[in-house]
Amino acid sequence: MAGMMTNVSLPREMKRATGSVPSRLRFTIPASVEGVLVVASVFWALTANRAFFSAAVQDRPLADVYTWGFALALGVLLVAAHFLLLALVANRWTVKPLLAVLIVATAIATHFMQSYGVYLDPSMLRNVVRTDVAEARELISWGLLPPLLLYAVLPLILLWRVDIVRRPWPRAIGMRTAAVLLAAATAAIALLLVFQPLSSMMRQHKEVRYLITPANYLWSLASVAGSEARGAALPRQPIGLDAMPGASWVTRRKPLLVVLVVGETARAANWGLNGYARQTTPELAALPLISFRQVTSCGTNTEVSVPCMFAPVGRRNYDAARINGSESLLHVLARAGVGVLWRDNQSGCKGVCEGLPNDSVIALNPPGQCAAGRCLDAGLLYGLDERLAQAKGAQFLVLHQIGNHGPSYFRRYPAEYARFTPACENDDLGHCTREEIVNAFDNALLYTDHVLASLIATLQAQAERVDTAVIYVSDHGESLGENNIFLHGIPHAIAPREQTSVPMFIWLSDGLRQSAGIDALCLQRRSQQPASHDHLFHSLLGLLDIRTALYEAEWDLFAGCRMRSG
Ligand SMILES: [Zn+2]
Repeated sequence: MAGMMTNVSLPREMKRATGSVPSRLRFTIPASVEGVLVVASVFWALTANRAFFSAAVQDRPLADVYTWGFALALGVLLVAAHFLLLALVANRWTVKPLLAVLIVATAIATHFMQSYGVYLDPSMLRNVVRTDVAEARELISWGLLPPLLLYAVLPLILLWRVDIVRRPWPRAIGMRTAAVLLAAATAAIALLLVFQPLSSMMRQHKEVRYLITPANYLWSLASVAGSEARGAALPRQPIGLDAMPGASWVTRRKPLLVVLVVGETARAANWGLNGYARQTTPELAALPLISFRQVTSCGTNTEVSVPCMFAPVGRRNYDAARINGSESLLHVLARAGVGVLWRDNQSGCKGVCEGLPNDSVIALNPPGQCAAGRCLDAGLLYGLDERLAQAKGAQFLVLHQIGNHGPSYFRRYPAEYARFTPACENDDLGHCTREEIVNAFDNALLYTDHVLASLIATLQAQAERVDTAVIYVSDHGESLGENNIFLHGIPHAIAPREQTSVPMFIWLSDGLRQSAGIDALCLQRRSQQPASHDHLFHSLLGLLDIRTALYEAEWDLFAGCRMRSG
């Protein structure tokens, strides 16, 4: 260490003279902090913003000279804006570590944006920061290596060889001020030149700003950190303080168990019950259940959809801060005396079960279901028989599936469900054809079909003793290459149908249908109409017969189909 220090403090000429390594291998690039920032900003404008530029010029003729002028002005604006942002925090000591982190992060971000067509908005970044090891591992594949070598390792080598020029501080401050003023003036001129088309683009396609890299993920990260800090400071707002059991609780003869299965990434378009050309739901198709074919999800990712599904007001008047800052349906049910349990086979309940009974399949570790930090969904049914045998009063069980969680669809099902072949068996979808990707996705649906049918069979077996119901609905859909978009998470306002149309069905035991007085034919008719995640909160209050001022009959799917009033 001491030797190194001495070496560094030697004048450059002496180092050359004493070193045994040829001087051409020890090249350094003398540069000012400002110079390095300009080069980095230009580098990102050119290499990390392909999605942004193509979105910006997509409605313009490519042959038109104005299109190119517009793109050029946007490029200048991007460079100037990133320079100004970096100039706020970079100095002689911080510039190299700061850029090193950003270079790697930007290379990774760009890879995922270009491969899957994702937008790095706050909800996507919330997904990223809440990811777990198993989820992250599936996203890291060999496909990342070439872009990392090209856009991260190579620039890092250059950055490492940069020798930041030292200036006396009055000169350094003068230089920085001049550079910032120049960048601000350049940005202002570029902005004036394209103000009209740019502002109309930002009005019509607000989400395009989440393609500006690396500003997109830096902004979104800061926004998530800000809202997490605000959220952590406040306790959850209680809701439904007036919740209490309805009249049927007194007359009910058998225990009641309602199971809500929160599906993952199952899309309506590939769901056999919805008329998909392939039978992906052979076991469910043989059961007397009521399938809703026109259901829209609240969000396009788990972090948005899951809390929303358990909130009294979901997408129709969406307010993320209010939903995440308030108690959920589970708290209301527990308050009224329903025994609640959240069982997870994915990334947790997103606050929905905070302070309430919950367990996870990975912790239960049912035999033969778990490996390498992940479990098959059949593990969700572990111990269900005993639970039914001991059921008392009214129970509400949520099963949170891993379902069709991508991109590794092939990891979601055991070998005997690999029926559509050839199936993509690579974590990186870029290595598979579209047909292989769809095959793997459909195989995962086949397995979900089996798990759900097994759940119903288990409940049916105890129908004499316990009245039961299953509601299944997926949290959001998935893009499988339509318009070159994969996975999910596109901002809701512009999300393709594939990401928001989800399968949903209701199954009721005969005993429950009779005791709750539900007209199955009427419900069948209701299922032909559109429905959404917004219906869940009120339909479950209705099904479990909980009285509260929060209840809105118009959002209860059962409301018009009860044979007895009350
Ligand atoms: Zn999800």
